[in-house]
Amino acid sequence: MIRLEHVSKSYEKGVQALNDVNLHIRPGEFVFVVGSSGSGKSTFIKLLLKELEPTKGTVYVNGKSLGAISHKQIPSFRRNVGVVFQNYRLLPDRRVYDNVAFAMRVVEASSRKIKERVPKMLTLVGLGAQYKSFPRELSGGEQQRVAIARALVNEPKILLADEPTGNLDKDNAWEIMKLLEEINRRGTTVIVVTHDQGIVRAMNKRVITIKRGVVVDDKGAKPDAD
Ligand code: ADP
Ligand code: MG
Repeated sequence: MIRLEHVSKSYEKGVQALNDVNLHIRPGEFVFVVGSSGSGKSTFIKLLLKELEPTKGTVYVNGKSLGAISHKQIPSFRRNVGVVFQNYRLLPDRRVYDNVAFAMRVVEASSRKIKERVPKMLTLVGLGAQYKSFPRELSGGEQQRVAIARALVNEPKILLADEPTGNLDKDNAWEIMKLLEEINRRGTTVIVVTHDQGIVRAMNKRVITIKRGVVVDDKGAKPDAD
């Protein structure tokens, strides 16, 4: 569950990136967040990761107010929120397998669990055979699949994707979206920031539109039951 109550975020130089945003995203939803460059989309993602604090209002993720999470609790909080970015952010000097395993080693998972989960995740994203490759040996679409495997390997409830197809051609972008849809079908809440109107139209999901920091449209949301 994700909830924003009267959330505003201003940056130092007086830029108001978000202005009184109220949103509810339920467990298991697939949501697009769209809006032109500078509208506040990445600020929204960073608030959900507790990379930024709101200037006003409250952000709830998985039932917890992020304001109540201490510095010490941030690593365990982030384990429940996977994230992928436009530029993949893989470790260039590590093989595909180790890029994914890294996320588990950080949380001190057992080597038995790592050996079990990493190949499973790589198979899920369609890269079971490329586990020995280095990121530079892969296409952009494949690199993004590795990033998705890494984001999901600790089984987070939520996956955030900030322009995950921004560097990809149309076919690869479409395949990444289909993969995100499959991940959502398996139960993960998925939030995708994108510019790609074609994809948004074709996928037929909830679409939250942000304009100059304000939610101006929210189409396809299910009625609020709680
Ligand atoms: P988007 O992801 O939709 O392009 P952002 O959330 O990155 O938008 O940015 C929203 C607004 O906040 C923009 O005007 C941007 O210039 C400004 N902004 C973003 N990050 C910072 C920052 N660290 N310091 C000052 N202004 C920022
Ligand atoms: Mg952005």
